[in-house]
Amino acid sequence: MTPIHGALAACASDPARTRGRLHPVTPAPTRNAFQRDRDRIVHSSAFRRLVYKTQVFLNHEGDLFRTRLTHSLEVAQLARDIARALGLHEDLVEAVALAHDLGHTPFGHAGQDALNDCMRAHGGFEHNLQSLRVVDVLERRYPEHDGINLTFETREGILKHCSPANARRIEAREPGGVARRFIEGTQPSLEAQLANLADEIAYNAHDIDDGVRSGLLTLAQLAEVPLFAGHQAAALHDHPHLAKPAQGRRLLYESIRRMLSAQVYDVIATTRAAIDAAAPQDADAARHMGPLVRFGADMRAQSTALKRFLFARLYRHPQVMETTARGQQVVRELFAIYLDAADGLPPEFAGSADRPRAVADYIAGMTDRFALREHERLTGQRLFA
Ligand code: MG
Repeated sequence: MTPIHGALAACASDPARTRGRLHPVTPAPTRNAFQRDRDRIVHSSAFRRLVYKTQVFLNHEGDLFRTRLTHSLEVAQLARDIARALGLHEDLVEAVALAHDLGHTPFGHAGQDALNDCMRAHGGFEHNLQSLRVVDVLERRYPEHDGINLTFETREGILKHCSPANARRIEAREPGGVARRFIEGTQPSLEAQLANLADEIAYNAHDIDDGVRSGLLTLAQLAEVPLFAGHQAAALHDHPHLAKPAQGRRLLYESIRRMLSAQVYDVIATTRAAIDAAAPQDADAARHMGPLVRFGADMRAQSTALKRFLFARLYRHPQVMETTARGQQVVRELFAIYLDAADGLPPEFAGSADRPRAVADYIAGMTDRFALREHERLTGQRLFA
């Protein structure tokens, strides 16, 4: 049976039984291992840079749009609330949620695609793998090792996807480590599964908000989306005055609020039933079962329909595509310049024996605005007004 609200479930990850860190440390006197991970993530340079990285809209397009930082905070909020209701470990879901996008390039997914193209002959570029690389290697703030030396469980959650080739590469240097599950076909911890689902719930909701705010989506278009339309109808039924045009934003917020709550309660109920039925004895047993943290079938279908709508109407909107195409040009041209230049890379990257990887690491770490400034400095072109 799932425990009463507030207690830890038997299948929750236990920081006292962590599989440990790449570099052993003495336990902290007042913090558990996952709290310590969360703290290390919040204090990292990569975390601070998330504030100037694109989620969908470029940072300078408006002060109210989500950035990777506010997105990550929303993911952490949703994941923690659900974790508490299910008896999963809140500190671990928070750590994974706050770190999940650390490896994102400037200019969102478009930036990643451009960098992946640039790196095609040099091992490719993938943001989940890069997030792991940030916490394992690229943060350099400890005297005796690179990286911020997080626990296995947080690193496992950060590595959400991994190609078979990359999994074999990681497995070779870290046998039985965070890539093993991609070879064996097992699941990550329930906390990692939850952070992943909370990511989807968060962006589905906030991309509607940002899409409408930008003028690229309209409430009329959103009537095509059953998940949104149903809650909007219910909001109008309960609050008829929201039908007035001047109340459009309140109607949007109330509809999104109801949509978020419905998804959260659906995940809690479905997952609680799945955990009760599968009855994993401990966190490790849950890794050897199918995914237990999930939507019910109907909510899964509705969430997928919403994702499809956002893809077609927002992410592929000509105005978004036009902006991201310019972001991709910045990434491609910076890559070509740094790859050829004898210098031009900061010292911590310049000495690398693997120049393409060092260039990719440097560019991936850039904020949108730093990349634009650097591009303008090196090419004399200003791509954004
Ligand atoms: Mg995300």
